[in-house]
Amino acid sequence: MSDITIVGGGIVGVCSAIALQDEGYSVELVDRGLETEAASYGNCGLLAVGEIVPISKPGILPKVPKWLSDPKSPLFVRPKDMITQMPWLLRFLWSGRRAKVLDIVAGMTPLLSRAEQDYRALLDAAGLSDKLVNKPNIMAFNSKADIEGDSFTWNLRTQKGFRHRFLDKKDLQAIEPALSGPITCGLLLEQWLQFSDPGIVRNKLAEFFLSRGGTLRTASVSGLVAKAGKVIAIRLSSGDQVSVKRVVLAAGAWSGKLARDIGVRVPLAALQGYHHQLPNPNVTVNHAVLYANGGFVLTPMETGLRIGGTIEVAGLNPKPNFERANIIAEKAKSVLPGLDTSGGKQWMGPRPFMPDTMPVIDKAPHHDNVVMAFGHGQVGMTLGATTGRLVADLVADRRPTLDLAPYRATRFWWKSNVAKSEEGNDPIRYPPY
Ligand SMILES: Cc1cc2nc3c(=O)[nH]c(=O)nc-3n(C[C@H](O)[C@H](O)[C@H](O)COP(=O)(O)OP(=O)(O)OC[C@H]3O[C@@H](n4cnc5c(N)ncnc54)[C@H](O)[C@@H]3O)c2cc1C
Repeated sequence: MSDITIVGGGIVGVCSAIALQDEGYSVELVDRGLETEAASYGNCGLLAVGEIVPISKPGILPKVPKWLSDPKSPLFVRPKDMITQMPWLLRFLWSGRRAKVLDIVAGMTPLLSRAEQDYRALLDAAGLSDKLVNKPNIMAFNSKADIEGDSFTWNLRTQKGFRHRFLDKKDLQAIEPALSGPITCGLLLEQWLQFSDPGIVRNKLAEFFLSRGGTLRTASVSGLVAKAGKVIAIRLSSGDQVSVKRVVLAAGAWSGKLARDIGVRVPLAALQGYHHQLPNPNVTVNHAVLYANGGFVLTPMETGLRIGGTIEVAGLNPKPNFERANIIAEKAKSVLPGLDTSGGKQWMGPRPFMPDTMPVIDKAPHHDNVVMAFGHGQVGMTLGATTGRLVADLVADRRPTLDLAPYRATRFWWKSNVAKSEEGNDPIRYPPY
């Protein structure tokens, strides 16, 4: 039996596995297939180090009617899921009040500030330094007024040390000649980088983990089996049980159901995203470009040009609506004349999203042999290496290098329930969150 069993082999699980090996633990990763379903495979590949301001922020409310009525809007709620998703949506909107956003910014800044340094150390050790592309990202806009209209975000980023530089049309043309259409200006996001392809990075890191003696069990976990304040086994969908010593729960958007088995109810949503991957786009894009007005990202990857983004609130395992991938591909044509979308491959996958955009990085409140690491929202790829290190701190019972209070699983619970749960009451009572 390995010292640690990690449920979920996305970027968070794999980086945690390597960090735990560094501590001397033997580690088994359990994943139902290290392939294409995970968000870590299909994301936009940005090392989005300045993404400290949540999507839900002051000024968001007037946009809500459009999300509900326009399937082409960058954030759309599937009408049939409206009622089931409403509690989460209300919490998400409530997190957008000014005071709360300032708390979130304070919580996200220390995590994101160390993302590059933690990845560089990890990728260097794994011989994968070339997978982090040393080019800044660009955010493109139709007008300067669009930038000024979100001065709240840009001022906060500047205050926290994330630099950006204005690019007028001429500057933009000089570095991204293929961009045209309605785009007139941009911001150079100086510290943001990109991965050469996130799925390849995740797979190569998994190979590195295996090469150091880690093991991978391909199986679907259907539950956690607990006894007297410890998780003693994982239950597989085959019906088998596998005994465990310690568990890290890192199953991305699918973590919520497993967490419930140990009395941890968290408001974790799966916000579906899409991409359209073009092996031969017929245009050259030099940097990752976030097109603010279009709500999508263009990322030049070693596997082709990825057009990714859009948020769809549609539950955990919905049938893909690839019309959303077509919509972003069509929008991309309007800013990249000559873009060839033929032969493109479409993908859908879930961002694991807490209403306040902050992840859960915490010990389970009732079971001291379980660490939880999920809910990284739109920055999970960026935070993989950093989360891995913090997970190792928690497993090793070491004081973490940063204060983990903002990432507590119990932060949405009523105070009285937190107090009860921290006494380790057994049998478990599900507290409302
Ligand atoms: C379109 C899109 C664009 C994005 N762009 C960016 C970006 O540019 N930069 C960035 O930082 N982030 C981005 N993100 C967010 C990022 O992809 C996620 O936050 C991150 O990948 C989450 O990683 P994870 O390891 O927690 O989850 P996942 O990558 O989803 O991995 C979870 C793993 O757990 C496994 N699993 C789940 N349940 C079980 C079970 N019961 N039994 C066994 N295995 C199980 C799955 O098979 C999967 O491999 C984007 C997301 C999307 C959808």
